[in-house]
Amino acid sequence: MASYSQAVLDDIRAAVDVVDLVSRYVNLRKAGASWKGLCPFHAEKTPSFTVNPRKGVFHCFGCGVGGDAFGFLMRQDRLAFPEAVRALAQRAGVELPTQRSPETDGKLEGLRRVMALAAQFYTDALWAKEGARAQAYIESRGVDLEVARRFGLGYAPDGWNALLSHMAKEGVTDAELVSAGLALPRQNAPGFYDRFRGRLLFPIRDLQARVVAFGGRAMGAEEPKYLNSPETPLYVKGQMLYALDVAREGMRQKNRAVVVEGYLDCLMAHQHGFIETVAALGTAFTAAQLSLLRRYADEVVSVFDADEAGQKATSRLEEMLTDVMDLRNLGWSVSRTGSFEKTGYFPIKVAVLPEGHDPDSLLRAEGAPALQSRLDAARSILDFVLERALGEEDLTTPRGRSTAHARVALILSRVPNAEEATALAREAARKLGVDATQLWIEAQQLQGARSRKTTAAPAGPSGSAQAWPPPSFSERDLLLMLLHMEEARIGLLPYLEEVHIAHPGLRAILGALRRAPEGMAPEALMAELPGEAERSLLAALLLDQREWTDIHIQVTDLQKRYDIRRRKQRIRELSLAITQAQSTGDPAVASLQAELRNLQDLAQAVRGMVTGR
Ligand SMILES: [Zn+2]
Repeated sequence: MASYSQAVLDDIRAAVDVVDLVSRYVNLRKAGASWKGLCPFHAEKTPSFTVNPRKGVFHCFGCGVGGDAFGFLMRQDRLAFPEAVRALAQRAGVELPTQRSPETDGKLEGLRRVMALAAQFYTDALWAKEGARAQAYIESRGVDLEVARRFGLGYAPDGWNALLSHMAKEGVTDAELVSAGLALPRQNAPGFYDRFRGRLLFPIRDLQARVVAFGGRAMGAEEPKYLNSPETPLYVKGQMLYALDVAREGMRQKNRAVVVEGYLDCLMAHQHGFIETVAALGTAFTAAQLSLLRRYADEVVSVFDADEAGQKATSRLEEMLTDVMDLRNLGWSVSRTGSFEKTGYFPIKVAVLPEGHDPDSLLRAEGAPALQSRLDAARSILDFVLERALGEEDLTTPRGRSTAHARVALILSRVPNAEEATALAREAARKLGVDATQLWIEAQQLQGARSRKTTAAPAGPSGSAQAWPPPSFSERDLLLMLLHMEEARIGLLPYLEEVHIAHPGLRAILGALRRAPEGMAPEALMAELPGEAERSLLAALLLDQREWTDIHIQVTDLQKRYDIRRRKQRIRELSLAITQAQSTGDPAVASLQAELRNLQDLAQAVRGMVTGR
């Protein structure tokens, strides 16, 4: 039987977001620091199944089951432990030694040793005499030497083979240095040369604080300004964040992650007390990185320079939405019940710096309060991008308005969370001077068109609907009637509230119906619903074609029943009010008596209705 090293399991755990995983099976809602849902392992009506993303665990207070991501998958899909490990590793993109071959393990261990030796060599070089220029550079940039040491900064000496000749003495071969990304073969001659020469080095470390790559910064006018390690078996771009090993404790403390672009920005932020800061290691920001940050904090603030903010925020949003969609096609549900669930909650905010500043220069010029105020003013990335789309068009002309309209509809169509999208639609509609419903319907048509294109397979029995008990016959019929018959909607919706429906899916659909503007097609509710399960249910109801006879009689009959229910409720309220007034000796005798009479009349009316007189 295959067994896996603790390090491999740690890597997988770090890459898997347990909320995303569980959300494939359970409709989870945010509840404080945790997520709650109906337990998939026992039948229940109130959610006692809890997932804690920071701890990476789940637990059911009803039936007592619990565990980590591996445990969940083993139980849910009835897998053996090695199968669960393989399944999660594949989804998380973690390379797994399928047959724990000594060669593969040995190779990774070998690479780690090479990186550790190289990091030591570069650090020694920085603090030795030959590093004087790099030390002076660090000081000129205002970086405290203590911070430089904490982040393990190093210096790659000038010349072509400083590292090569040092490592040869340590018994490291040239080939090993090449596979670690630290040396390159010469172009026109035999032999190798150092990749990093005459540069300040920022080691990139994994969560276990092991160096896996370097970022090298030029100290003069050399090109390129930044030179980074290539991808290696240890270093996969898009799966790591610079300084996460140092910043994760700060993220937990502050419940916030700050993402900047550059290494120096990151160092300066830490130096000024923003200990929750990481750098994105390139322009792309992936769902995997977001997933990592969400283990430690609820909020992610991306910091942008003023001149690039709009463009970068737009492309980052695009990247994220695209990632989310790709993941969804792989069977993940990051978007539907994960990160975008809570009202008005989108996991990424945008903080824009004053003109001409990056975090480094702002902190040096104006200190921590200047950055703090920008972070405090951070806004949802969606809101930000939407406003820019509106701002770039001339809304005084019909053409400008219609272009802005189309752009906004396109953005809205990509917003996975219905509540967030509705709120944004309302605001955009107000600015555009158009009808929010119209904007909304357009967005939905675009969304529909895209999901028809990208959805490979219909949601199968793995959807979270399986966690729901089957709806009661009468509740289902009621919703069917409301969806299919306009007369029923007009006649009955005023009497109905969500609390009257026990089934969570039907309740969500009723809520959407009640919020929908009059005359809106029931199909258009699809995007108003919070999750895949509710949408599946709505689809099933919409597809349930049946003959409706005597609709008028049915509606009138139900109205009568609802009226009785309402009056009985009123009687209960009045009884309570009277009891309270009596017990406190309320002097409002007249109103009390009026209420009593009222109560009697109501009781009479109810009896009359029930007995049909
Ligand atoms: Zn349970």
